[in-house]
Amino acid sequence: MTQDPIEESVVIIGAGPAGLSAALYAARAELSPLVLTGMQPGGQAALTFAIENYPGFPDGVGGSELGDLFQKQAERFGARVEFDSVTSVDLKTRPFLVKTYNREILAKTVIIATGASSIHLGVAGENELAGRGVSYCATCDGWFFKGKEVIVVGGGDSALEEAVFLTRYASKVTIVHRRDELRAGAILQTRAQQNPKIQFIFDSVIKEIKGDGKVTSVLVENVKTGERKEVDTDGVFVFIGHAPNNEIYKGQLEMDDRGYIKVDTNMQTNVEGVFACGEAADGVYKQVVTSAGMGATAAIAASRYLEELNN
Ligand code: NAP
Repeated sequence: MTQDPIEESVVIIGAGPAGLSAALYAARAELSPLVLTGMQPGGQAALTFAIENYPGFPDGVGGSELGDLFQKQAERFGARVEFDSVTSVDLKTRPFLVKTYNREILAKTVIIATGASSIHLGVAGENELAGRGVSYCATCDGWFFKGKEVIVVGGGDSALEEAVFLTRYASKVTIVHRRDELRAGAILQTRAQQNPKIQFIFDSVIKEIKGDGKVTSVLVENVKTGERKEVDTDGVFVFIGHAPNNEIYKGQLEMDDRGYIKVDTNMQTNVEGVFACGEAADGVYKQVVTSAGMGATAAIAASRYLEELNN
């Protein structure tokens, strides 16, 4: 016999800074929100070694520590956080239908906070050698490269921040960037440039990652001259940006041409009662503090929507 789906007032999909801030606000509005964490509780922030630009932590805070604090605070007011992943949503029916690996849930409102994932290079050898020297997370994998040489791909904040972090372990970190100008902010640029373990290869892209069972070298091409050279390395860390995790909402919610969900100033999507926040809906600012703010806004708006629904 199948069980009838449980009906919830607020279902929050995702447990990064946006989802957990939404949970805090929805919980304090006494809506007892259900948070479905997905595979990565704490979101991308939890994979960051140290967060130095979240207000209230003048000495910085560990990424996973901040995620734990967010969750603890939301739970204190009645948020229920479940380790489960959503497999599909039906936003055409009311209440909305949310299916997870474990069960079906009916939801009066849905707050989407599914964040974004690392973009891959898409070059030969990358998939085969993922987890065998190719990595998208310095905090997770840096330790394995003690005394070894690694390549970091990208010229943004993530690439430089993670390159600096990797110098704790690696003997040499080479940043390969496709232009001769870095995108990262001034503080990180200075920190990377002043680090004696960091070198740069500018105007260059990786064409292939080579190795047999583990990474041994990369094929680097100069985009200006077309010259190619093989560079020996033990690891390749790819930090070339992120794409939103919005596959399951395609065809149901309006998105921009990069796949970010379109929202108004209340974080309201084109479907009334469905809100989106954090990197699922923000392809520009992408900070822990902006995602948290979007989450709070979404929860306040959801609470107002429910009030109207009940009157
Ligand atoms: P990003 O700012 O989009 O930078 C991506 C980098 O990868 C760029 O330098 C880009 O080159 C390069 N790139 C993109 N596609 C590539 C490809 N196919 N091959 C080679 N290189 C490629 O991404 P992010 O560094 O992950 O940062 C995302 C957001 O989080 C940003 O808003 C950033 O400010 C923020 N963030 C902030 C901090 C901090 O404040 N401490 C830390 C991490 C991230 P081009 O420059 O040529 O486009």
